[in-house]
Amino acid sequence: MALESEVQTILSRVQSRRDEMLSRLMRWAAINSGTSNLAGLGLLSGQVLEQLHTISDDTQAIAASPQTVVDPHGQLQQRSIGDVLLGIRRADAPRQAILSIHLDTVYPADSPFQQVKHEGEFLYGPGVADAKGGLIVLLEALKAFEEYVDATGKTSLGWTVILNSDEEIGSPASREVFSNHCPGADFGLLFEPCLPNGSLVGQRKGSGNFEIVARGQAAHAGREFDKGRNAIVAAAQVTQKLHALNGRWKDTTINVAKIDGGGPTNVVPDTAVVRFNVRYPDADVEQAFDEALDRIVQEADDGITLQRYGGFFAPPKPMTPKYESLLKTVQANGRTLGLDLTWQSTGGVCDGNRLAALGVPNIDTMGVRGGNIHSPQEYMHCDSLVTRTQLTFLTLVTLAERFRQADQSASE
Ligand SMILES: [Zn+2]
Repeated sequence: MALESEVQTILSRVQSRRDEMLSRLMRWAAINSGTSNLAGLGLLSGQVLEQLHTISDDTQAIAASPQTVVDPHGQLQQRSIGDVLLGIRRADAPRQAILSIHLDTVYPADSPFQQVKHEGEFLYGPGVADAKGGLIVLLEALKAFEEYVDATGKTSLGWTVILNSDEEIGSPASREVFSNHCPGADFGLLFEPCLPNGSLVGQRKGSGNFEIVARGQAAHAGREFDKGRNAIVAAAQVTQKLHALNGRWKDTTINVAKIDGGGPTNVVPDTAVVRFNVRYPDADVEQAFDEALDRIVQEADDGITLQRYGGFFAPPKPMTPKYESLLKTVQANGRTLGLDLTWQSTGGVCDGNRLAALGVPNIDTMGVRGGNIHSPQEYMHCDSLVTRTQLTFLTLVTLAERFRQADQSASE
């Protein structure tokens, strides 16, 4: 592809901003923004908004509603969630893009993994790849795109940036913001890290998180054992039944992840909470799984009650013709930059699932190249800050131009 000289100039300008991008990433990764650390998220949000403000017509911080969670005693509690940040440019343009990534990380304020280290080609630190590197890429690519628009006067593309603070727990509060702002958009780009070898993600499974709370009757283990109804034994039976569902539906897995409950050894335990996750390739599985859960809950032994909570939070993201065409566009732009991009399926989920379900074809791994995410060995390849910014910029230019030509020939 022959590039316009303006595009070429901006690609070089992105390259020249490498050190600036890297030092901003190091500052932002050093701010702990674990999903529960509202103070840290607030500090990071302030700095991000400052940047977003320079390229947007309008920026907003939307307060997220608190979420209900089941505590280890089976009680419902409220959990506060950080703000969702919005940046909007050319809201009335005929074509619209959504660009999104999360501000939160999986590392809580008391995690031992807080230090950011730059060693040669690599940057190590909490969230450098997932997803603060992607956050830098998103902002820099939009800055580059706006420079292109200013220089050429060409575009019919507006955009909305959505930055949420609860992705690592399944976006329970921010999903409403996605539902309000995404329908009708022409495409989406999300900045989760690409795979360690640079590949993009294609299809994604759907996911659901559930809890079953078992309640029985407490009793003295020595004096009145027979009066007790053991909630942990009930939870163990539930666990067996859940695990046995593996293999019932094609490529569907059920992982029992955690059991809370019990206390002193001389008490028959009266409460236990079983927490589990399901991954499934096809939306049809949802109803069948739901019914299977209902049956398990109804089959409780005498003196035991079982109650279910939770639900599906990310619908599957299947391959569609629009999605494939978007992947091919990014692939072609990668080739221009000397990147050999392919894509593969994964069982992992992200807000790209949500966007796809809202009818917005999207690529969700436009972020940096790194690895060992969700672990204290998380790292990023420093050069990917530049290449992924250039890739995103080229993709925005290509799609904007394609839409402009299509709209022009439609009006002729
Ligand atoms: Zn992520």
